Amino acid sequence: MYSEELFKISKENMPGGVSSPVRAYKPYPFFAKQASGSKITDIDGKTYIDHCLGYGPLILGHANPKIVEAITDQAQKGTLYGVPTENEIKLSQEIINRVPCADMVRFCNSGTEATMSAIRLARGYTGRDKIVKFEGTYHGAHDYVLVKSGSGAATHPDSKGIPESTTQNTLSVPFNDEEALKELIEEEGNNIACIIMEVVMGNVGCIKPKKGYLDFIRKLTIDYGIILIFDEVITGFRLSSGGAQEYFGVTPDICTFAKILGGGLPIGAIAGKQKIMELFAPNGPVYQAGTFSGNPLSIRAGITALEQLDKSFYDTLNKKGNLLRLRLKDNIEDLGLNLQVNGIGSMFQIYFNPEPVTNYTEAKKSDSDLFTDYFHELLKNGVFIAPSQFECCFLSGAHSDEDLEKTSYAIEKSLKTIYQK
Ligand code: PMP
Repeated sequence: MYSEELFKISKENMPGGVSSPVRAYKPYPFFAKQASGSKITDIDGKTYIDHCLGYGPLILGHANPKIVEAITDQAQKGTLYGVPTENEIKLSQEIINRVPCADMVRFCNSGTEATMSAIRLARGYTGRDKIVKFEGTYHGAHDYVLVKSGSGAATHPDSKGIPESTTQNTLSVPFNDEEALKELIEEEGNNIACIIMEVVMGNVGCIKPKKGYLDFIRKLTIDYGIILIFDEVITGFRLSSGGAQEYFGVTPDICTFAKILGGGLPIGAIAGKQKIMELFAPNGPVYQAGTFSGNPLSIRAGITALEQLDKSFYDTLNKKGNLLRLRLKDNIEDLGLNLQVNGIGSMFQIYFNPEPVTNYTEAKKSDSDLFTDYFHELLKNGVFIAPSQFECCFLSGAHSDEDLEKTSYAIEKSLKTIYQK
């Protein structure tokens, strides 16, 4: 059966035909058959260079041979024990060695769980209820944070089914705006448990923090006794071996990981300073738990992924990212277009917007319809990216120079087509 027919059936079985909303693009998404390295092949027989990469986790590409070998071996030894394993110590130690804020680690199963538990921890530690997030950041699909969210929630803001009483303690301010944050903290600072942020916003495209912004936030949080949480679900083990906090040299109190940490399998983690982390049950009064937390398969995949992610890996990957962005900028200029190429390291996005994009409001002014045309042209030209202006594109270590040449050519060709329409 082909993707079109399968989507008709899947819509009868599953709401919207998908297991996560952003996957349901029109007229129908392609159904995956298999994937290897930088490429994904659909059930209709077409192969694409993949820059969606499972929305970020696959920094080593699809079906990384060492990870496949490790999880095959692990599967034969059992996939769930319900008791601790030595490998959990090994992966936590690896995180502690790499990540500046990490004295201790608690494993869970997703980024959503990680941020939910990190916020609970910050509330438990400070005894305060209010939290601050930034407009357009996405911290998962749980109730505390679906306020002015990015990602799939950017097109479905403020979900139904969440009582107002749950989000009345969630305050949000524009990203990259020192004055707005200062004003809020001066007013509310002593009631605020935490500021949670994506250091680089990866759920409204890709937006970097302005120079000095992170230092400013770090100082403000220290002054007011507010816990600073870096949500590194995307940036963790992507920008550098120690995440965005190492890359920018600013250390939060707690951070959250998921995606890359699982080596392509589901995982989440909260890492942070010991005096805060020790508050988690069973040591402390902040409850956090999970049947599959620290499961042997994800932990083994994570260890095998991190073993391959050394400094030279990031040097090479980030250079490729720089080169691709430069090429895209040149091509866009040659075409006489005025679009924004945002990105950092191995993250990138083109905004269909003539003005620079530094926050959510500016991102939302981009032409999403044109982006959708661009997305479909790219598919025709053999490149798969996330089907939304408000997601980010990624590179992996499996992308060859030839892949990147093909990608930049496909982007140029697609832009030409949509602007000639
Ligand atoms: N935080 C950030 C920054 C994310 O990008 C995401 C997912 N894209 C999440 C949290 C939620 O992670 P998960 O989908 O694993 O629950």
